Amino acid sequence: MSLLLIQGDITKLECDAIVNAANNSLLGGGGVDGAIHRAAGPKLLEECRALRGCDTGDAKLTAGYELKAKFVIHTVGPVWHGGAHGEEKLLRSCYSRSLKLAYDHNCESVAFPMISAGVYGYPFDQALEVAVSSISAFLNECDRDMTVYIVIFSRRDFRMDKNFFGSVRDFIDSRSAPKRFQGSFGFTRNAGAAPMASSAMLRCEAISDDACEDSSIEEFIRTRIDESFTQMLLRLIDEKGMSDVETYKRANIDRKLFSKIRSNMNYHPKKNTVLGFAIALRLDINETADLLMKAGYALSDSSRSDLVVEYFITNEIYDVNKVNQVLFAMDQEIIGQY
Ligand code: ADP
Repeated sequence: MSLLLIQGDITKLECDAIVNAANNSLLGGGGVDGAIHRAAGPKLLEECRALRGCDTGDAKLTAGYELKAKFVIHTVGPVWHGGAHGEEKLLRSCYSRSLKLAYDHNCESVAFPMISAGVYGYPFDQALEVAVSSISAFLNECDRDMTVYIVIFSRRDFRMDKNFFGSVRDFIDSRSAPKRFQGSFGFTRNAGAAPMASSAMLRCEAISDDACEDSSIEEFIRTRIDESFTQMLLRLIDEKGMSDVETYKRANIDRKLFSKIRSNMNYHPKKNTVLGFAIALRLDINETADLLMKAGYALSDSSRSDLVVEYFITNEIYDVNKVNQVLFAMDQEIIGQY
């Protein structure tokens, strides 16, 4: 149950269905349409002929022939005429009709190109907003696990709302500026002492003493071990009054992975999975740090992707798809499941 932004050529994808940004005739054209027909072979055109065209905003399904995908869903996006001619409604309809067809054909994975964002002229950032919001609305209502990809052909095409992206950038620049060395190790203040070495030694001594007293490592661990990642996650879900389904959907994580985590009190998640939960549960920055720590991670000022997440959390923008658009634009791994 996740929405993933990926970069690549949609004709190469191995998934149940790929979506074609077709024209009303369904008889092939340029752009992604041409690429899909070339890769699928002449039988695709034969089947398309029998469909007798498709209305703008509607979708029709064919086999995938020589493609790796089982099906091709042909949808016809609106041509951009300035935005006041029902373009958004028609584009939303392309996504909902295509997803309905994919659902009816039991597809577990579907990939969309950026419909209308090529020769049909829909501004990329607005087309992306429609794509993301239409797909997430569908996934939120969907009672089955489906993974939906938005395939960005070229990273150079990728555009987000400039003002928003600019403020994330400013935040990162301000946080990742080199920090002056504060002299906090205090070699001069504590001349003669060896602060680092001695504190490390103290820790070792404390551990070995306790371990001897308890006479077994297991006993030592049993008495010291804290709440696990899974335990903390389940506790937070209860405390925030959220349901499991709401949580994993908002985290961009599918039901299978969530069940795995739920059933294993010692589950070790990926860092981006933890961050997905932090966004889903609307954790503040300290709670996020605690949850990360339970899985052995921390937020680092040296990591651009961590700073992106920190920007969203400190500004209380708890929208995993928005976070992922920024991460994608910055060429960073996205959050949730991938
Ligand atoms: P439309 O006519 O709906 O605008 P286009 O095919 O012109 O359709 O472009 C739609 C989007 O598909 C554009 O963002 C374009 O960069 C992208 N695109 C073109 N070829 C491919 C491909 N092989 N895989 C994925 N996306 C592609």
